[in-house]
Amino acid sequence: MKYCSECGQAVSKKIPEGDDRLRYICTSCDTIHYQNPRVIVGTLPVYGEQVLLCKRAIEPRKGFWTLPAGFMENGETTLEGAARESWEEARATLTHENLYRLFDLPYINQVYMFYLADLVDGSFSAGPESLDVKLYDEADIPWDEIAFAVVADTLREYFEDRKKGVFPIRISSTEPVRHK
Ligand code: ZN
Repeated sequence: MKYCSECGQAVSKKIPEGDDRLRYICTSCDTIHYQNPRVIVGTLPVYGEQVLLCKRAIEPRKGFWTLPAGFMENGETTLEGAARESWEEARATLTHENLYRLFDLPYINQVYMFYLADLVDGSFSAGPESLDVKLYDEADIPWDEIAFAVVADTLREYFEDRKKGVFPIRISSTEPVRHK
């Protein structure tokens, strides 16, 4: 950050009084510009034996497959955000949503939350941020073309959980292991 979003003047990094972290502070209007982690909300849509994946039309990882997910917006709940992203990216309407996976990623200042959900009527199509949207059987998942490690981990865990018929909420705060 170089300039104040309130007044356009230069910012400098200082520790505000009573704080213990460096913050961007405006040299003119004294606004403190706090920077906090971003929350990414998404879903793992299931239809029968299949899961719904989206082929990304935008960077990063354009052309790779992912679960519908995106940055949470102000004024919405995590579930509303996850449902909105599922509609925007895959034109998917979902039901029976349950929180399934949470990744704390402090090294990139992000929190990922995925809801497990049923795809209504098996109906979907590519939204503007997707090149393609497709239902995949476990055997056909393109593991080498999955966009993000958090998505690969969530899918891998889902297929393991499905064998047992139980879907516990998992939280991890370490760098995810990329499965092959
Ligand atoms: Zn300012």
